[in-house]
Amino acid sequence: MKKIIIAIDGHSSTGKSTLAKQLAKKLDYIYVDSGAMYRAVTLFAIENNYIDENKFDKDALISAISSLKIEFKKDESGVTKLFLNNKEVSSKIRGMQVSNLVSKVAALPEVRQCLVKEQRKMGQYKGIVMDGRDIGTVVFPDAELKIFMTASAKTRAQRRWDELTAKGEQVDLDAVYENITSRDHKDSTRSDSPLVQAKDAHILDNSNLTPKKQFELVLGWVNQNTKKK
Ligand code: C5P
Repeated sequence: MKKIIIAIDGHSSTGKSTLAKQLAKKLDYIYVDSGAMYRAVTLFAIENNYIDENKFDKDALISAISSLKIEFKKDESGVTKLFLNNKEVSSKIRGMQVSNLVSKVAALPEVRQCLVKEQRKMGQYKGIVMDGRDIGTVVFPDAELKIFMTASAKTRAQRRWDELTAKGEQVDLDAVYENITSRDHKDSTRSDSPLVQAKDAHILDNSNLTPKKQFELVLGWVNQNTKKK
């Protein structure tokens, strides 16, 4: 079957990565979580004191960005882990401080240029599912299948809160709601590569869809595309 590029974009906490992972497994494709790369750069900026809630030394981060090493590697059980300068940071990048600062870091054109270049390299042989905010518009504007995911902010906050508390993180539902809506706002209004729906994207509002129904729907889109000449 013809290998394609599947670009999944959309609002925060709509289940993009869950869907992308399911698709990659079913199709035996590579899965790339582009948001994790922006989170890794943010963690690096926090750890080096370039950014906190009150300050942002953009120049220092920009000077350091080309020396950053961000890699996805599979562990012994086949689970993909994220490494920042050879240190495993898969859990650390999911914390609230990174979540609260990542949209500021992701708004920097220099950061975006660097990560987009890496993401395009990963997709050069197709057979890839990548999720993020600008995958169908900027990273792979010629992707054969583009999906734009959304759901009501309330539904998304509840799902994210369930996920975080299941992992043992103590978080307030209102704080999660605030983080999701403020990230959506920042991501949609930034000047470089804002979160917008590509004209040729399929819209997937999953507020009232079961995961099973959603997957069936998307597999139908995949089949339409892989059969095309
Ligand atoms: O996907 P996730 O919610 O983990 O992404 C974290 C943040 O990274 C987003 O809120 C956004 O600011 C940024 N991002 C981006 N472009 C992408 C992926 C993520 O700007 N392609």
